[in-house]
Amino acid sequence: MKVCANCGGKIKSRQNFCPTCGQVAQLVVVDRGAARWAVLGFICPVLGAILYLIWHKRRPNTAKSAGLGALISVGWVVSIMLMVVVGITIGLEVVE
Ligand SMILES: [Zn+2]
Repeated sequence: MKVCANCGGKIKSRQNFCPTCGQVAQLVVVDRGAARWAVLGFICPVLGAILYLIWHKRRPNTAKSAGLGALISVGWVVSIMLMVVVGITIGLEVVE
């Protein structure tokens, strides 16, 4: 199923013209910033970063979702590591 780039009407895959407005059918890549890509980027930030690099030109919204998920994930891990390091440092100072 294709979608008309001009009017958004549905075009059957065998049709070359839009039945609604008569525009020549063009293949439109669906580019919605889907939450599932953000979740995927969060679970696996490396994959999210790779998807961002692959898609940032052709599917900017989807790429943004994947990249954002990856960034949040990395930020989360870094902040936990910082807390652990600070906690250990404070703990050592107390012991000494
Ligand atoms: Zn149309």
